Amino acid sequence: MNHTSSHTTLDTNSARQRLLRWYDGNARELPWRGATDPYAVWVSEIMCQQTRVDTVRAYYTRWLQRFPTVAALAAASEDDVMALWAGLGYYRRARSLHRAAAFVVAELEGRIPTTYAGLRELPGVGDYTAGAIASITCSEVVPAVDGNAVRVLSRLCLIDGDPTRAAFRNEVRAVAAALVDPGRPGDFNQALMELGALVCTPRSPSCDACPLQDLCAAHRADTIASYPPRAARSEPRVQTTEALVIGDGERVWVEKAEGDGLLGGTWVFPTFPEGALPEDFPAQYVGAFEHVFSHIRMTYRVHACDSAERAGERGQWVERRALPELGMSTAMRRVAETAAGGSPGE
Ligand code: SF4
Repeated sequence: MNHTSSHTTLDTNSARQRLLRWYDGNARELPWRGATDPYAVWVSEIMCQQTRVDTVRAYYTRWLQRFPTVAALAAASEDDVMALWAGLGYYRRARSLHRAAAFVVAELEGRIPTTYAGLRELPGVGDYTAGAIASITCSEVVPAVDGNAVRVLSRLCLIDGDPTRAAFRNEVRAVAAALVDPGRPGDFNQALMELGALVCTPRSPSCDACPLQDLCAAHRADTIASYPPRAARSEPRVQTTEALVIGDGERVWVEKAEGDGLLGGTWVFPTFPEGALPEDFPAQYVGAFEHVFSHIRMTYRVHACDSAERAGERGQWVERRALPELGMSTAMRRVAETAAGGSPGE
């Protein structure tokens, strides 16, 4: 036990047994539940980070049909990968998954590592993902702590502190590591996260339905609302982008976004900083909408330019009606809708 930590301790055996029993009777049916293939679990874990499980279901199934193995993914073009990911957001995840698959094929003879330490060597695989894959598919006794698990653990053991600091994360991880069930580590980790998703929810947790209720320090002390501790909230950045939809009736010009930025690797309409639309395009302003990324409140001002002249290495002309197959982000689909005269949907 870490002597500097301030959390309360827990009856470990009782917590494990109750949580696993609850999980066996209450876990949701999910397409990846029960998967033992490290590649499949990897895909599901990356998709589920920052995206709701209900959204991920269909994407996951399509993905595994199209890229059933790490070798199939490594051999795919970036365009195909991004097209299949389109709409899931946080496109960097797709690119690093693709890059990591190429790494596995090129450097590891196509075999995904079977230990936490080995998995951590893969590009884009962090502590959580490595812990999840190693515990679920290889029964390694390591924790996998996502936001749901942080919430449950901080309430159970009154773990306090600044959640943006390493000290807090380390303490949560230490509690989780001591708690993982050595016999069923993968199920235990999933159970903790599932409890956070279904019972120990951010607001109004269903403590009466919780298998850990009488072990839970926050419930006992009636301080649930103070856990998990919150970070000082930073306001989203407010920004405006000019988007230019160039095309005649049939075709439009799209470009591949560079870098690791918000939409890096996806097809986008040419965009410019606020007020910096190039003057050589006789563009007409057609409307604006707001799109909220995780930390940016972006206003897209959309301009249409009736022209068939545009060239550049990173761009191509595409048929308007083929746009949906291209793998564009939700923000860019809304740009297209605005330019077409429709109101941008979600
Ligand atoms: Fe969460 Fe309530 Fe269960 Fe405590 S008793 S772990 S606060 S659901």
